[in-house]
Amino acid sequence: MESAANAQLTWRLDAEARAKAMLGAADAVDAAASELGPALTAEQGKPVAQAVAEAHGVARWLRYFALLELPREVIQDDERVFAEVVRRPLGVVAGITPWNFPLSMAGWKIAPALRAGNTVVIKPSPFTPLATLRLGMVLRDVLPPGVVNIVSGSDELGSWMTAHPLVRKISFTGSVATGKKVAAAAAPDLKRVTLELGGNDPAVVLDDADVAQVADKIFWGAFANSGQVCIAIKRVYVPERLHDDLVDALADRARSVIVGDGMAEGTQLGPINNKPQFERVGELVADALHHGATAVAGGKSLDRPGYFFAPTVLTGLSDGTRIVDEEQFGPALPVIKYQDLDDALKRANESHFGLGASVWSADPERAAGVAERLESGTAWINTHSALAAHQPFGGAKWSGIGVENGPWGLLGYTEIQVVYRSKS
Ligand code: NAD
Repeated sequence: MESAANAQLTWRLDAEARAKAMLGAADAVDAAASELGPALTAEQGKPVAQAVAEAHGVARWLRYFALLELPREVIQDDERVFAEVVRRPLGVVAGITPWNFPLSMAGWKIAPALRAGNTVVIKPSPFTPLATLRLGMVLRDVLPPGVVNIVSGSDELGSWMTAHPLVRKISFTGSVATGKKVAAAAAPDLKRVTLELGGNDPAVVLDDADVAQVADKIFWGAFANSGQVCIAIKRVYVPERLHDDLVDALADRARSVIVGDGMAEGTQLGPINNKPQFERVGELVADALHHGATAVAGGKSLDRPGYFFAPTVLTGLSDGTRIVDEEQFGPALPVIKYQDLDDALKRANESHFGLGASVWSADPERAAGVAERLESGTAWINTHSALAAHQPFGGAKWSGIGVENGPWGLLGYTEIQVVYRSKS
């Protein structure tokens, strides 16, 4: 923290130098992506091509923010006063990340924090520290000392960071339960917080949707990264008429997708990352089956070493079952019938979560009208999980506070200063 605070005294002074250094950092990360990817697969499990792509994503974020300017706004300019609103950096930023996308989440914090003139200390999850530490080694060679610091350790290290007096902003990505602890830890000395927390994204299929067209996208929206995505589709609401066709299409894909070692050629889905999460997914699926659900595909772990769970499609259950109401964060998807769209939307919204949501329809205009009724930070139409550096991302309700990405995300690493000149 002291190293970050000392570095910030210089780093904050020259926006042009920062942009240049960040562009250099982006090139270095691109050049190291072929090493960062396998390190990430080894600890996280995802297919290596996706891990390499995640590393390139960090470079893309550095480039995007390097070229983004902090706004200055003149709010008064008359015979008496010249007043401008400028943006100041906050100081040392503590970034705490989860185990599902360690590199992306680190990049999402490092890039805007540095651009705004802050320095950062990042703590990856104890389940996935290696790729982030390796990223730190890459950045160490191209950025001034102390500007980016990576520390790895247990959950307790996270709470030491959030309590540390030198930290002025916490950017946290993780579960709702930990997010609430982080908010409480930030309160005594009024640290700024951005919280990107869990989700239970509904996909609402409208009655005019073409199942053959949407099934593949819904499948990957739910099962990519073996469901370990904050904005994975975690429940599907489908009109009774389309239910069986959609379930068949999803189950076909669940049965045929290649699950295996992320380093092996052809693997499409890796394992669940860690034992507690593997056990939790098993427990939620068992609970659903116990409450009368049918596993049309999967339903149990795969009989082989490792935390491999068969991609699972569940039917015959509704709200009030744990796997519908909670965040499963694994390769198991409940598909729920509805008769009345208003009722489906009410059920989709009856949740403390509000991260993402999607609407699926042959009529995008109609879908857009429905999308705006969903209580979520992002509402996609005929797709799910699409993100970009220029697109603000955040959660409604318990899914978060504040946003990351785009100019809005950049402003989250600043505070307003009014510079007021009297002309008299
Ligand atoms: P988690 O909350 O258990 O841990 C996240 C991080 O917080 C880890 O680095 C952990 O060590 C640290 N931590 C734990 N206790 C802490 C404390 N008291 N103080 C400070 N830090 C502490 O989450 P996880 O299991 O690693 O990740 C899965 C969760 O992350 C899911 O809920 C998922 O939806 C969410 N997530 C959200 C987003 C988003 O952008 N909204 C993105 C990815 C993941």
